[in-house]
Amino acid sequence: MPIATVNPANGETLRTFEEMGAEEIEQCLAAAAAAFRRYRTSDPGERARLLNRAADLLEEDRDDIARTMTTEMGKPLAAARAEAAKCVKAMRWYAANAAELLADEHPPQPEVADSGAALARIRYRPLGVVLAVMPWNFPLWQVIRFAAPALMAGNVGLLKHASNVPQTALYLGDLFRRAGFPDGCFQTLLVGSRAVEGILRDPRVAAATLTGSEPAGRSVASIAGDEVKKTVLELGGSDPYIVMPSADLDRAVQTAVTARVQNNGQSCIAAKRFIVHADVHDAFLERFAARMAALTVGDPMEEATDVGPLASEQGRADLEELVDDAVRRGATAVCGGRRPKERPKGWFYEPTVLTGITPDMRIHREEAFGPVATVYRVDGVDEAVELANDTPFGLSSNVWTTDAEEQERFARDIEAGGVFFNGMTASHPALPFGGVKRSGYGRELSGHGIKEFCNVTTVWHG
Ligand code: NDP
Repeated sequence: MPIATVNPANGETLRTFEEMGAEEIEQCLAAAAAAFRRYRTSDPGERARLLNRAADLLEEDRDDIARTMTTEMGKPLAAARAEAAKCVKAMRWYAANAAELLADEHPPQPEVADSGAALARIRYRPLGVVLAVMPWNFPLWQVIRFAAPALMAGNVGLLKHASNVPQTALYLGDLFRRAGFPDGCFQTLLVGSRAVEGILRDPRVAAATLTGSEPAGRSVASIAGDEVKKTVLELGGSDPYIVMPSADLDRAVQTAVTARVQNNGQSCIAAKRFIVHADVHDAFLERFAARMAALTVGDPMEEATDVGPLASEQGRADLEELVDDAVRRGATAVCGGRRPKERPKGWFYEPTVLTGITPDMRIHREEAFGPVATVYRVDGVDEAVELANDTPFGLSSNVWTTDAEEQERFARDIEAGGVFFNGMTASHPALPFGGVKRSGYGRELSGHGIKEFCNVTTVWHG
């Protein structure tokens, strides 16, 4: 894939970029390794000052970088501004909390004595140079979610961003440099995915994190496994959104629309499969489909737009194939199911609600990365849990019920990294984020996230 900014709202190529060659990559690797040697022992208070400075700069730049994101990948402008604001919040959170999260831990004295020690403690030391392979869907947030904790822990970062968001990628490298982080602490590599293997195998790289598709994750994890290097993977999701009879149906419907079409439907934690109890199924479906059909699809730069284009022509083709396969096998498109006629340019797709889904349809098991919802009818909790888990993915889940017993059952049995009751899945700096099954492994955010790239060291004194 060429490294270029192509506006998904009209298909126009706005800027193309030359990929870095072997010599430039070598310079970046050498700079990262040299930076880590010094930065690993830097004062945590100074790291926090630099991260807060980066947050200040991002806050100042918010409107400009939001326009860049919208131009490069098509999310509505208001959502792009909100993404930048969320990054600022996460940076400040880690600046404020990292020292406490990484403070030495002291096991109970009787256990220390039992190990034969006079004194023992657990110390969190940085791992080194971490390669971050990142996607285009939240082009700022996915990177900051990695960079803020990594830098606070004393690691240094190399960013290989998606090839369709090069200007956002360059902005991020520049942001940390402008904030005053020492040279080499955070660098953007303008390279395609073919260059990843060589970089990951380089002995100066200690670990990798990847957010993106399953094939990309599998490739990076296999190479890292071969090199015995730590990885964190945040891959796709096909999150269930369960609605039980006790739900506040108005709120459940309203939130369902946001949960499905946020970011033009291209979010790993978007609700994708709507599993509705028979008692409320018809009422839910009618209101949900009416709201989905009423959304404004259009130019993401316009404030009135709810749903912009998909980020790439390929992404729309993939989504269309999933919908066409389902309809061919007997599903019904209650609304949407096609490109909007009035928008022949750009990679738009109408918000779509599908019913009559059967297990032989691809969309039953694959991730629909766009504004397409599937709605299922179930007769009770058992069937809801079974259907929720009938997917290769396990990122998060949403359940609408006020019944305490049902809540306990779902919290115990849904195979996912999150169970959100009476609301939609959203990430927060203080809460761990990540999945099970084919959604990946490891956690980002919170204390769990910052410790993923630490050397958890036992310090023992005889
Ligand atoms: P990819 O997984 O291909 O892209 C994500 C990142 O991985 C990019 O930086 C990409 O680089 C890189 N990459 C791709 N293949 C490899 C590889 N073999 N080795 C190393 N790095 C690689 O996502 P797509 O953009 O192709 O989207 C396809 C699907 O992935 C979506 O439909 C969705 O299902 C899922 N996805 C999930 C995301 C999430 O948030 N979990 C985010 C984005 C996609 P380059 O751009 O240069 O190819």
